[in-house]
Amino acid sequence: MAHTFEIEHEDGPARIGKLKTKHGTLSTPVLFPVHNLGAEGGWNTPRYWEKFPQINTAMFNASLLALNRRGHLGTILQTGIHRFIRFFGVAFVDSGGFLYRKYRLAFKPEKILEIQEKMGADIASTLDYPIDCKALSENYNILRTVNNAKLASSIKRNTEMLLFASINGYDPAVVRNIIKHLKKHGVFDGFAIGSLMPKYGSYSFLVDIILAARLEAGDIPIHVYGLGSPLVTHLLVYLGVDSFDSSYFIVASGKRNYAIPGLGRIEFKDLYKYSSHLKCECPICKTTPLSEIRKSRNLITLHNLWTLWNEIDKVKIAIRENRVEEYIAERLSKAKWAKRAFQYAKRRVRFRFPGG
Ligand SMILES: [Zn+2]
Repeated sequence: MAHTFEIEHEDGPARIGKLKTKHGTLSTPVLFPVHNLGAEGGWNTPRYWEKFPQINTAMFNASLLALNRRGHLGTILQTGIHRFIRFFGVAFVDSGGFLYRKYRLAFKPEKILEIQEKMGADIASTLDYPIDCKALSENYNILRTVNNAKLASSIKRNTEMLLFASINGYDPAVVRNIIKHLKKHGVFDGFAIGSLMPKYGSYSFLVDIILAARLEAGDIPIHVYGLGSPLVTHLLVYLGVDSFDSSYFIVASGKRNYAIPGLGRIEFKDLYKYSSHLKCECPICKTTPLSEIRKSRNLITLHNLWTLWNEIDKVKIAIRENRVEEYIAERLSKAKWAKRAFQYAKRRVRFRFPGG
């Protein structure tokens, strides 16, 4: 097994770690903001790393780039993604398998891996076929995803690139078996769990799958795809997820929603109801009045991202001080859904991590 991850501190399943990559060592848990390079709508991800140098991660999508809608693929493969967008942090390049249902994509796993290697990904995840219901017909896609991971592990040439195996599963036992199998039949620097989004409303599903993965993966990092709103983030970190990616900060700003830690996202027209929570310390809010921020999608995006990143930093401090449960309980006390989800998670954690 590759030695790219080191655990520094644990508080129950939650943990602080170090993930070594070609573009630096990341302190985990860490967020990878989604960069929509190659997307149809164009680039609406601001160059946040120039404003906030501490946010040194980004998530790209290999399938979107492979579609080459904007004709950049050749240049990106030649110069590498970092030089292409002048970003010198850690680039996680997802296979983009989740687009396969939407666009009926049929890229071969070898092709996706080649793109990831040539574009200079620091972390690449294997091609997955997401599932969207608990049905036996989905077993075919689960199996294909497992086989892609094994294939990628056997043909990977770039030794500096970390490889995360993508996994999907509708059942905690299935997820555990997949991880057990992949640990035996491949070399992976992490496991990336997908297909959790459609079940968003069902927190028991989310909690049980993640906890199963966390238990089986042991000291190998766990990534969760596409979940990263301020409230869910707490839950993920509590359950021991080491990284996640999210376009939440862009999506929320598109709807003119302003993120407030512990409350989630609030529409600008309702912000007056939360005046006691409006003490944002981000560089945007400190220098620009809310009435101006409201008018700019970019400024809202930057505020939302900073808020999310900063909140994760706070949870990390709580982990180091062995008070992650108290911290999260307090943070989520005003959020109905997340509070119930956290209570369920606590019960499951007590059962699985006695004495933790
Ligand atoms: Zn702010």
